[in-house]
Amino acid sequence: MLAPEVESLPWGEQLELDDESYRTQLAYLFDRSAFYREKLSTAGFDSSDAAGGLAEIALLPLTEKRELRETCTRDNPIGAHLCATPSEIVRIYSTSGTTGAPSYVPLTAADLDNWVIASARSYAASGVTVGQRIVSTYNAGPFVAGAALAAFERIGLSHIPLGTGNTERLMLAIELLRPDAVVLTPSYAAYLVESAALRNVDLRASSVERMLVAGEPGGGEPAFRAKLEEGWGAKVTEAMGIGDIGVSLWGECEEQDGMHLGARGFVHAELVEPETGVAVELSDGATGELVLTHLQHRAAPLLRFRTRDHVEVRTSACRCGRTGPRVRCIGRTDDMLIVRGVNVFPSAIREVVSAFAPDVSGHIVVKPQTQGVKQQPPLPVSVELAQGAAGDDALAEAIRRRLREALVVQTRVELVPWGSLQRSEYKSKLVEHS
Ligand SMILES: [Zn+2]
Repeated sequence: MLAPEVESLPWGEQLELDDESYRTQLAYLFDRSAFYREKLSTAGFDSSDAAGGLAEIALLPLTEKRELRETCTRDNPIGAHLCATPSEIVRIYSTSGTTGAPSYVPLTAADLDNWVIASARSYAASGVTVGQRIVSTYNAGPFVAGAALAAFERIGLSHIPLGTGNTERLMLAIELLRPDAVVLTPSYAAYLVESAALRNVDLRASSVERMLVAGEPGGGEPAFRAKLEEGWGAKVTEAMGIGDIGVSLWGECEEQDGMHLGARGFVHAELVEPETGVAVELSDGATGELVLTHLQHRAAPLLRFRTRDHVEVRTSACRCGRTGPRVRCIGRTDDMLIVRGVNVFPSAIREVVSAFAPDVSGHIVVKPQTQGVKQQPPLPVSVELAQGAAGDDALAEAIRRRLREALVVQTRVELVPWGSLQRSEYKSKLVEHS
């Protein structure tokens, strides 16, 4: 552990410290944030005292990304949640904006340092240590992920930044520089397994012993993870963040049983039901959308921010000694479809389908027939066969039946030949609207 006195603090004591930070943060918001002064007073809270402490946080309104965007003007392109003065801001990131125009994420020097501390804890949980070499493959310069790169030096690693999209150069660096670890998206990790096979390169014989995957769900899906570990002969752990709140907030330890909150003390985590926004208790096995609150942020702090990440919680003690709830990402609420009242995540479909390896390649695409979230059954799913595998109706039927049992969704499974679904060197697109 990078900071054992912090990371193994009993969770109850952490929450007491967080409650103090939260009250101070609320007072700061009332003092400096035009956005939250208005939002909270509209909801009936006209002072930080009225808003109470962490025990009462679920009474406060949630914050949607859309609301922040709506306050952006030419004079204030960051939005009305900006609290810091221009001279206090040391960096401004752009989030990649899957939905259109980028939005800006400003940081003070202290904010940036807290991001790096949290990120270093999250990545160090994977077991990488001082003196080891790590190759990173994020084209992160302009994006929030760039802040994560500083975490590698903070851990004491020797960092070899390579970026995405030059597989030749990556393979060569792995061969010549002999890194102990690589950090990449799970899609790219899978792409490299196939790519190495085509070049007759044995990744299993490489020096890489750990793969730190982040940037999209998938690294925590058992079958997908097994495929990556088998292909690379390396251990997979995942990390997760959200641009508006912080980079690599969560990181999995060597026990591989969900991600610990590396950003503990800086960020408070809650769960809500995605459709209603009603709070869900962080109990073992609970699922819901992750909602995050800054506790010590200065530039543009957020309160009860909806991350759109749908997670499952584990609260059992972890053998690594880190305390607090752990999460595993099930999917993005943005990708979620509702089929006859049942929430369906494309990444969960992939997880179920991947268990049919070695008959299938693990690549799937869900093809909704109508626009919007609500879909009529059966939901069309294209499932790619493994290389050399000949699928038949019995396999398609078995997959369809397993999906119905596991996810309570009626699908129409179409088997497609190996290599026919698109590969990604960055993040996979699991849904294609017709
Ligand atoms: Zn652990």
